[in-house]
Amino acid sequence: MSQAGEQGTLYVVSAPSGAGKTSLVAAMLRNDEKLCVSVSHTTRPMREGEQDGVNYHFVSREAFEAMIGRGDFLEHADVFGNYYGTSHIWVRDTLAQGRDVILEIDWQGAEQVRRLMPECVSIFIVPPSSDVLRERLTGRGTDAPEVVERRLAEAAEECRHALEFDYLVVNDQFAVALADLLAVVRSQRLRMSVQQERHGELLAGLSQ
Ligand code: 5GP
Repeated sequence: MSQAGEQGTLYVVSAPSGAGKTSLVAAMLRNDEKLCVSVSHTTRPMREGEQDGVNYHFVSREAFEAMIGRGDFLEHADVFGNYYGTSHIWVRDTLAQGRDVILEIDWQGAEQVRRLMPECVSIFIVPPSSDVLRERLTGRGTDAPEVVERRLAEAAEECRHALEFDYLVVNDQFAVALADLLAVVRSQRLRMSVQQERHGELLAGLSQ
């Protein structure tokens, strides 16, 4: 249970596609019930196996633009021709309940969130090598060469922003990368500013 007034921490997680970000974030949620992930709005078409309201809130461009107009988004960006955005109210309310929130967003969104909420903790995930990335993005080799080249170019663009993040996690072995991510979360919870709120009485008692 969180104490009244205890704010959750906002985590921003970005990665080039093919780094394993979505699987790692899903595993983080399974390992830590205080963590939750924001479900973004997007205008991109739903992929097979995806569910509206679970993977994304799938909306039309008109609906998305109306939301921009109303100031509904904490951040939003055009990523590879589709809009993506994070609900401002959901993030604010969830943090206020003392829960830690993960945003799985691209570098443009990360930049906006960092500006608005400088206390956020940002993590960049990379694959262990360019060869592994190429392998993962090439998939089964059934995609047209220009599609593969476009994905690689997009991944390189994302990686050019890695240094803007607080932490770097290399996803070579999944279990190690997951432990690294959970270690970042754990270390934030041990920060004096957080612990002081939680253990104020203990500290006061010990100091008498
Ligand atoms: P995909 O369409 O493959 O699920 O995601 C494409 C890219 O959009 C990924 O880099 C993902 O992190 C990013 N993305 C997903 N949701 C958001 C969001 O709400 N805001 C921003 N800025 N990027 C997002």
